[in-house]
Amino acid sequence: MNEYHALLTLYNNELNCVPILYRMKWPSGFICPRCGHTSHYTVSTRRLPIYECRSCRHQASLTTGSVMEKSRTPIHKWLIAMHIIAASDEGINAVRLSELIKVTYKTAWSIMNKIRLAISDSDRAILLTGRIEAKQEVFMKQPHPTHDALLKERAAIVAQAHTKHSVKPYMKIKIIKSEQRSRSKLNRQAENEFLEEHVSSEHTSLEINRKHVNPPGDLALLPAMAKTAFQWLNDTFHGLSESRAQLYLDEFCFRYNHAGNTTCSPLESLLRLCISFSAVYQNRQQRKNEGFPRWNRDGRRLASNSNNH
Ligand SMILES: [Zn+2]
Repeated sequence: MNEYHALLTLYNNELNCVPILYRMKWPSGFICPRCGHTSHYTVSTRRLPIYECRSCRHQASLTTGSVMEKSRTPIHKWLIAMHIIAASDEGINAVRLSELIKVTYKTAWSIMNKIRLAISDSDRAILLTGRIEAKQEVFMKQPHPTHDALLKERAAIVAQAHTKHSVKPYMKIKIIKSEQRSRSKLNRQAENEFLEEHVSSEHTSLEINRKHVNPPGDLALLPAMAKTAFQWLNDTFHGLSESRAQLYLDEFCFRYNHAGNTTCSPLESLLRLCISFSAVYQNRQQRKNEGFPRWNRDGRRLASNSNNH
């Protein structure tokens, strides 16, 4: 726990954290969410201040629309969890978090779950562009492929995208549904779903290794990254339920994708997406309704995207 002492000192009470959240929510100063007016009265309450618009009297709070909305857990405890998820090497599980911030296991689990949902939602809003490489990986591979043993295996599409402007590639690891899982070759439907949901029509090249053999060159990095991710999953969560695995993998990729970013620290990135959680969610719903571009197996865009499911 020693590694976390500095965090407990840094985020030691709720009011100390108000300026941090204020800066994240309104980086250019207060903007009334209803009328756009830019000045407010501050109303003190027993907990967090309320910001009342001087023009329309709308009352805005720092946590509305965020992962913390309606939570009774003080915000400094949320910030400790966010800091660990964003900036530590490994993240944290709910048991350790509950001990650290002195909340029940159920509360700690709920905090982690909401932060992970925000991460997953923001990742889904990012479509891969530029030069994309993707590969199927099978995990927890069983030595004797009996029917029961195969049920324990997991498969995922691991992809990275290089763009001209980014220093390092952006990575996604997406679990393949059990009914689409195949040990030998990437399932066609799994591939199409990945392309529909995660790849932009703007990409310059797309290279998919569909076989489960380790490839030469750049693509050889993908199995290594995926192996690290799944090892972390097993070590931290002691098992790997299919329903939770995607959220954990998105958290792993968030840390990888944001580590070493000097223009916006990983914690700032996480705070932003946790604060605008409902906005991100709505954007995703909107995109879903508009329909994603569709692709064929050679990576060519199909003309119609009206028959989305
Ligand atoms: Zn207003």
